[in-house]
Amino acid sequence: MPDTTPSCRFCHNVLRHPVLDLGEQPFSNSYLEPGQERREKRFPLRVWLCANCLLVQTDFDAPADEIFSADYAYFSSVSTSWVEHAKRYAHQMIARLGLGPKSFVVEIASNDGYLLQHFVAQGIPVLGIEPTRGTAEAAIAKGINTRIDFFGEKLAIAQKAESGGADLIAANNVLAHVPDIADFTRGFAALLKPEGVATFEFPHVQRLIEGLQFDTIYHEHFSYLSLHAVETIFAAAGLRVFDVEEVPTHGGSLRVFAARKSSAHSETARVAQMREQERRAGLDVPDGYAALKIRVGAVREQFLSFLATARREGKTVAAYGAAAKGNTFLNYCGVTARDLAFVADASAAKQGKLLPGSHVPIVSPSELLARKPGYIVILPWNIKDEIARSMAPVREWGGKFVISIPDLQIF
Ligand SMILES: [Zn+2]
Repeated sequence: MPDTTPSCRFCHNVLRHPVLDLGEQPFSNSYLEPGQERREKRFPLRVWLCANCLLVQTDFDAPADEIFSADYAYFSSVSTSWVEHAKRYAHQMIARLGLGPKSFVVEIASNDGYLLQHFVAQGIPVLGIEPTRGTAEAAIAKGINTRIDFFGEKLAIAQKAESGGADLIAANNVLAHVPDIADFTRGFAALLKPEGVATFEFPHVQRLIEGLQFDTIYHEHFSYLSLHAVETIFAAAGLRVFDVEEVPTHGGSLRVFAARKSSAHSETARVAQMREQERRAGLDVPDGYAALKIRVGAVREQFLSFLATARREGKTVAAYGAAAKGNTFLNYCGVTARDLAFVADASAAKQGKLLPGSHVPIVSPSELLARKPGYIVILPWNIKDEIARSMAPVREWGGKFVISIPDLQIF
């Protein structure tokens, strides 16, 4: 932990409760070309709890221009289960809010248009706001109105003047990824029509703690959110949560529905139930966050002992899924290309590159099938069934799949 005590990114209270220290790590999306290894930069990856607002957060603001570089290789449409999730969401929201050709739907961090395409297909005007040029241009090429920019209060005010405001703003998996969460949240209050609805999806910190999902921690992921913390942050921007659902994405997320405090949306019973669930889990007091570091240390010990056993057996260990979360896990465990021969990934943009930190080479799924490793560690464990199904030929040579979180499982 650092010499100077950091302060809360929302309420500026001094942070005194360390939650987890994952060491010095490169950015989890900074895939390297072979030969670039020696120029790689590492930054501290630590998580704290603010005892005042109960926001779990990193203490290091990675510069956005380094993170959201042209090398950023994540295209949402590559994951079929994610596109399906987005389609279900779009159809639910169209029905619930009665959206049509006169409505206006905005998505923040709209990536390659994986979600907005389902509104466009129903003739509903949309705007995507996406800071990453590569994915934004892919959306524009598909005919999805997209603005290449970061979202915040200033942009929201300008956009409101231009468009008259949004009936729906979707912010799936982005609230946790903004360094200035207060300014970002004020942007929603500014852009919504008086009865407009904003929905947010974010990994639930309760699932992180209970499921030991520390591999969802990385520099680009600044906040680890509870409903408790979100309600505090939203209230300061003039918003209130009127509904909440649990959704299975990213190992267990919350989808919250928010509107202006003055809107007519009445609060569902689910909101009070979720507040109570978090209280029972101890998330309203610092003690609820204290045991995580010990349990995470045990996950590392278990995985290193699996690697040692595989080495003694003379079996090759490879991995599947070059996702950001895998990088946090591998770098915390100190894994290198000597431990993991290669990692297969379906994204052509990543193939031929090296994972940040561990420098494990990324190959295509067909190369994995050709090289027949004895063990395949599935790094994005949240889609392990999808991956095991798509890699079914692995069974023909007796290959086994491995996941390491929350417990090591070989199947
Ligand atoms: Zn705070």
